[in-house]
Amino acid sequence: MIEQLKTTKNPLFSFELLPPLKGKSIQSVYDGIDPLMECKPAFVNVTYHREEFVYKKREKGFLEKISIKKRPGTVGICAAIMNKYKIEAIPHLICGGFTKEETENALIDLNFLGIDNVLALRGDPIKTESHFAAEKGGNEYAVDLVKQIVELNHGKYMDENLVNANPTNFSIGVSGYPEKHFEAPNLKADIRHLKEKIDAGADYVVTQLFYDNQKFFDFVDACRAAGIEVPIVPGIKPIESMRHITFLPKFFNIDLPCDLTDELEKCTTNDQVRVVGTEWAIQQSKELIAYGSPCLHYYTMGKSTTVKEIAQAVF
Ligand code: FAD
Repeated sequence: MIEQLKTTKNPLFSFELLPPLKGKSIQSVYDGIDPLMECKPAFVNVTYHREEFVYKKREKGFLEKISIKKRPGTVGICAAIMNKYKIEAIPHLICGGFTKEETENALIDLNFLGIDNVLALRGDPIKTESHFAAEKGGNEYAVDLVKQIVELNHGKYMDENLVNANPTNFSIGVSGYPEKHFEAPNLKADIRHLKEKIDAGADYVVTQLFYDNQKFFDFVDACRAAGIEVPIVPGIKPIESMRHITFLPKFFNIDLPCDLTDELEKCTTNDQVRVVGTEWAIQQSKELIAYGSPCLHYYTMGKSTTVKEIAQAVF
């Protein structure tokens, strides 16, 4: 597919989904995917969610620290999608919370399931951390995770005594930030680190969501100037509610262009916001296709109706 991306005139449609909250069934995942299957996605990404820590009140005023995972099931969902829809599913794999050995074991599980694609990420700090802290014996940056996956692709496992070990065949995606990662001192430094991930063996880049295409075009130019030659897939998220207008910039460290906020400010209901957000995403997508983007990747965040509307208007 990556080779196809380098030359295609017909851009691919793909989307990302979140595992459902713990306690929900796989049917809730299918209910979100089914409407989008009509738009023939080339692949589906499934996010990974780390544990969170909560404090439960116990006897005599003691507090007990408890680890909970609200959205488990990333790998199981990928296997279920591949089995049911016969399309590629790409689990996100993060450094946070994993030792290198646990990462290796997770990769072995993926390999046995026939899941040959991963999006390799560092992960964010958990809510109780002021900055990201790798697990003791874990990968510190996404580039370290990429290197570990590449080692496995060469049949090199952590146990050096293994002989004739099965080489895996992972294709590796990594993340890129047109408006820079929030911790990076500047875009140039961030792109230098992105190049390290590509040099380590990553095959393509998927970007953080953005609303100003010019920022994406400038980012691609800067990546190319820095020697990054792999496909760069833009990430698109339609604004669907009043809450998104403040939540998305804050959570993802991105700006909304004035033309967009001028329109959003006229809205008084979520329905009106959704109309503006959908139209913006359609125009954004059309412009990205005209620019030559090989694939457009949509963030559903658990809602497929709007993404379907956009995909039908664009592909
Ligand atoms: P890295 O590439 O490791 O970069 C992190 C920061 O460190 C950057 O500022 C970079 O410039 C800097 N840096 C990198 N290498 C070095 C180095 N050698 N020395 C010094 N500085 C360095 N999070 C999840 O928890 N689950 C998900 O499923 C998930 N999916 C995502 C999907 C996409 C498409 C994107 C864009 C993000 C996703 N995230 C996810 C969020 C991501 O984990 C965070 O943005 C995280 O803070 C950074 O991850 P990264 O892989 O970009 O990190």
